[in-house]
Amino acid sequence: MSALTIVRLYHDLLGTYGDQGNAEVLMHRARGRGIEVELLEVTPGDAVPTQGDIYLLGGGEDGPQTVALEMLAKDGGLNRAVDSGATVFAVCAGFQLIGATLPNSQGLAIDGLGLVDVETIYRDVPRSVGELVITFNGDMQEPILTGFENHQGHTRLGFGVQPLGSVISGVGNGVPGRDAECVRPEGVLQGKVIGTYLHGPACARNPQLADLILESAYGELSQYSDEFAEAFAAERRTTLLR
Ligand code: GLN
Repeated sequence: MSALTIVRLYHDLLGTYGDQGNAEVLMHRARGRGIEVELLEVTPGDAVPTQGDIYLLGGGEDGPQTVALEMLAKDGGLNRAVDSGATVFAVCAGFQLIGATLPNSQGLAIDGLGLVDVETIYRDVPRSVGELVITFNGDMQEPILTGFENHQGHTRLGFGVQPLGSVISGVGNGVPGRDAECVRPEGVLQGKVIGTYLHGPACARNPQLADLILESAYGELSQYSDEFAEAFAAERRTTLLR
């Protein structure tokens, strides 16, 4: 058995924005440190394994998002894995569907998986599309994270729930054009479950985020450096902060 098992959930449904690449980056950075890692690909109709260490969900359109949620709720494997201490990294549609409520493909509020205490609603405002830059809330050597966002939903955190970071530019969880003067939350970080609106794939654009995910599942990591990945991440930060 591998030291680390990554489970990629339904990238046939939630692969529109390239978030499936997060799995490749996590595997690359684990193997670069000599950690044995395997990828389990879960497609619609497969049972969700409960022995995984890291579960990945990506973004997609409202219809496939609703289908993915229905299948995950019926299966129950992801919720059981989280109860046993698994790490989850969920992007956009994936972030919304692990919350308490969200709109379905008809716009009606439905229950999410309830892995994190967040609620998503649709508002009659323009879709949030563009580059997104945030500063990570916790301890991290390079706390600026970048990506792009593309969503209609806006996500409210429950009382006392920590966001992943604060928006520097872009929209994140909030409503475009509002709260410009306030701290604007982005994503969620609740235990070992991370949700975010950052596409990219986020782990390719932010190697430090990939390491945070790996560390939450594996424990302390040895030093590892991938010059190309770090140069790419730095270029995005510099250009977007200019
Ligand atoms: N359907 C969701 C929304 O528009 C998620 C979009 C996405 O995953 N990029 O808010």
